[in-house]
Amino acid sequence: MEKLLSIEEVAEILGLEYKTIYRLIRSGELPAARIGGRIYRVYRADLEAYLERQKQRVHEEATGRKLVAQMEVRCGNCGQRIVSELGIAGRCEVCQGALCASCFGIEKVKRCKTHQEPAAETEPMT
Ligand SMILES: [Zn+2]
Ligand SMILES: [Zn+2]
Repeated sequence: MEKLLSIEEVAEILGLEYKTIYRLIRSGELPAARIGGRIYRVYRADLEAYLERQKQRVHEEATGRKLVAQMEVRCGNCGQRIVSELGIAGRCEVCQGALCASCFGIEKVKRCKTHQEPAAETEPMT
């Protein structure tokens, strides 16, 4: 497969008009190399990355974005931000608070920081 594509080829692949592709390039959405005056060449990899971003965008709109926008989920043990529901590996036995994969999955933490066993009490707190 060709590594470099002309605007016409990109237009054909996407089933869009030349003008549309040109606009995507001019707006910086689709990276392209300008050769000479007004000849553009698009790397196939860039086109694929662009399509991937669009796919992510649609996916986020359909699923994740709302969730993240409404409530920021953080791991109840380490405080790490959990970006999507898939990142919630488990929940605190007491409060059902989210736990991340490294705490719940790897360190076998079963509870959030607030509901962990006494250990924390012996730590000097100021
Ligand atoms: Zn964690
Ligand atoms: Zn808890």
